[in-house]
Amino acid sequence: MNKNNKTMKAVVWDGPFKVSLKEVEKPSPEKKEVLIKTKAVGICGSDLEIYDGRFKQSTPPLIIGHEGGGIVEDVGDSVTKVNKGDRVIVECLLYCGECENCRKGLYNLCFNHKVIGMIGHDGEYAEYFVAPEQNVHNLPENISWEEAGLIDTLAGPVAGIEKTNIHLGQTVVVYGPGPAGLFFCKLAKLRGAGKTYLVGTRDSRLALGEKYGADVILNAKRDNVEEYILKDTNGRGVDLVIEAAGSHEALNSGMQVIKKGGELLIYGVFGGGPVPVDIQPIQINELVIKGLNGSPFKYPDTINLISKKMINVKDVISHTFKIEQLPDLFSSGFIANRKENYMKGVVLFD
Ligand SMILES: [Zn+2]
Ligand SMILES: [Zn+2]
Repeated sequence: MNKNNKTMKAVVWDGPFKVSLKEVEKPSPEKKEVLIKTKAVGICGSDLEIYDGRFKQSTPPLIIGHEGGGIVEDVGDSVTKVNKGDRVIVECLLYCGECENCRKGLYNLCFNHKVIGMIGHDGEYAEYFVAPEQNVHNLPENISWEEAGLIDTLAGPVAGIEKTNIHLGQTVVVYGPGPAGLFFCKLAKLRGAGKTYLVGTRDSRLALGEKYGADVILNAKRDNVEEYILKDTNGRGVDLVIEAAGSHEALNSGMQVIKKGGELLIYGVFGGGPVPVDIQPIQINELVIKGLNGSPFKYPDTINLISKKMINVKDVISHTFKIEQLPDLFSSGFIANRKENYMKGVVLFD
């Protein structure tokens, strides 16, 4: 490859099952944009959905990657709050600021949204990337680049738990012991939950539950989850169920263990189309169902939680990689099939 300071290495998606490392033009910042020299990017399940074509809103060619940050290399003429040399993390959601929802502060529901590395804007699996100044947050020195790659993963659950009505002493079930589910357990405890149940099917992941505040850990392959939780709550059920698995089995199980008038938060991604769900409990028990998309306004709080050591994000990182490894990680199924107990990967740059 012919390397000069006008080009850079980037992972480009050229349509379903086609990703490769390419030498592409280095971007330059527009007026209100910041150019960042990439240091770390978290690998997200959405990357896999783009890779195999399930995520229909992505159009090739596209540089993917959307959970990253780095060091500010250059700023556009109108940038005022970010300076060259700052260590920053970038929120991937791009909003217009002018539509009906944006004007109500519902930026994550912007009618004209784009997403860095996903929809209409090149991403971060590249030596450099650009982002609007309004998406850039400064990183405290005590957050490592590896940890920075988990900020987006934590910001979603931070927004999610705050959207619920969880009160002191209440009971919570979290389905899905992935990074988000584990974070939900810990955050529920930080919000004062009295008892948390963590439900999953992979022992290697469930094993982290205790560290993240799960009082009861259930493996749906072995344990009768509904029976256990109903008995443990004297037949009442729990106050809040968080679905962070994206599985209809989990969703159906969750509907059976919520108390009458209880709450269900859907955080898992159900990307594969309609799923069979018994919706009768919603009507009979007047369940309150909420969804969450993204992490509106939660980056600063999330950065604080990590910086003040209120939650450990490092323990869910199973692998770190270099950008050169990415195309093979997608095409070999390493991530999709969670080889070597893959849980969460962060791509680190020199
Ligand atoms: Zn993501
Ligand atoms: Zn908008």
